[in-house]
Amino acid sequence: MTHEAGWAHAPGALRGPGWLREPTDPNALVPSLWSRTAHKVEGDLVVGGMPLADLAAEFNTPAYVLDEDDFRGRARAFRDAFADFDVYYAGKAFLCTEVARWVAEEGLHLDVCSNGELTVALRAGIDPSRIGYHGNNKSVPELRRAVAEGVGRIVVDSSAEIERVGQVAAELLAAGTISAPQGVMVRVTAGVEAHTHEFIATAHEDQKFGFSISNGDAFAAVRQVGGLSGLRLLGLHSHIGSQIFDTAGFEVAARRVLGLHARISSELGVTMPECDLGGGFGIAYTTQDDPSDPAQLATEMTKIVEHECRALGIEEPRLSIEPGRAIVGPAMCTVYTVGTVKPVTLDGGAVRTYVSVDGGMSDNIRTALYDADYSCTLANRHSAAPPVLARVVGKHCEAGDIVVRDEFLPADIAPGDLIAVPGTGAYCRSMSSNYNHALRPPVIAVRDGAARVVIRRETEDDLLATDVGAR
Ligand SMILES: *Cc1c(COP(=O)(O)O)cnc(C)c1O
Repeated sequence: MTHEAGWAHAPGALRGPGWLREPTDPNALVPSLWSRTAHKVEGDLVVGGMPLADLAAEFNTPAYVLDEDDFRGRARAFRDAFADFDVYYAGKAFLCTEVARWVAEEGLHLDVCSNGELTVALRAGIDPSRIGYHGNNKSVPELRRAVAEGVGRIVVDSSAEIERVGQVAAELLAAGTISAPQGVMVRVTAGVEAHTHEFIATAHEDQKFGFSISNGDAFAAVRQVGGLSGLRLLGLHSHIGSQIFDTAGFEVAARRVLGLHARISSELGVTMPECDLGGGFGIAYTTQDDPSDPAQLATEMTKIVEHECRALGIEEPRLSIEPGRAIVGPAMCTVYTVGTVKPVTLDGGAVRTYVSVDGGMSDNIRTALYDADYSCTLANRHSAAPPVLARVVGKHCEAGDIVVRDEFLPADIAPGDLIAVPGTGAYCRSMSSNYNHALRPPVIAVRDGAARVVIRRETEDDLLATDVGAR
């Protein structure tokens, strides 16, 4: 029996993973996966008032398209929902000078975790006192620069680093370069590891970040900071993971972190003014994902902290959070041009449709690196063809160079079509590479029908700029 929708639906046809629903209309957008202004007009995907086909014609593909209103809206939503917190945008998710300025304009602080990210932040004119500096292996020159620039908080991650930053700060104080001790937070591991829908609470943490609460290292680190006159201990810092959908992991972590906070207060007589609960709030990449909005998160996290502080009999410290993905992730999509469409017959006779695009793992490594799922849509026309299960792949020399593992696209998808992948704002451009000497795509900000390049496409001259032998 032949399925009414055609060959792709014959018995033995690929259906994809269980969570993937076959759409009745493969042209339709699933709004929860797209930035706020994204919609289709007769098949043309429009973001920020700009048809992606027009952007592709002007700027070529692949290109990241950044919906400015969406980014600002999400930043503001966190700012408003967490009004009693400091909200640090985690710049490692995506950072350029323009976006750093939006972050500041929307009232957020900024986290960096490298010298390069600090450079971008400072070049954007961000007030250094509103910058947090992370990382498990900051060098002495990096620390010296951060302290001299007046970075508000350095999150220390090892005993060696505490010693280094203590010495650097003491020297810069003595030299008059800075006028007050350097604020530091102690990164602790709370024995909670969260990833998407699950979290695991363990006694031991076998990973490079932070000081363990359970084995006493965190307490010892706090004592070490306390003994250094160049440093001012602001509080404890905990970041439990990424792409987290419920607050159960935060609850366990907050209990352990605030427990230590209280112990430090009673045993060392040190009252720390702050406490950072990290980032990691999840977004919807596919219909499997059901993230909470900032207001829900704020309500739950506030309740958890109030409850713990009351139980411990301590005053609530000033809290901070560090969302990265949840602000920039949904704000960006990537637009590609289809180059080839190849039906591949598998054992058993089923056919998988491989759609090759002009980018891939150099502009989005997350599928290969984390087995991440994405979705996509035909972006330049309306199709009357039935849906076919497709795998969107890149142009790199790796079989694992997959952009979208499973998605239904119109069966007449063809070379020259545009495909757009939503949710590519976080950890795509920031993790992009020049693999196969690919030129990294531009980031084009769109708003109210206008487009503005905030990062231009790389050129062959950029590629060769460090190749000393090039002529
Ligand atoms: C990566 C990171 C974040 C941001 O994580 P998201 O999943 O992007 O929200 C926040 N804090 C720290 C310390 C991080 O390393």
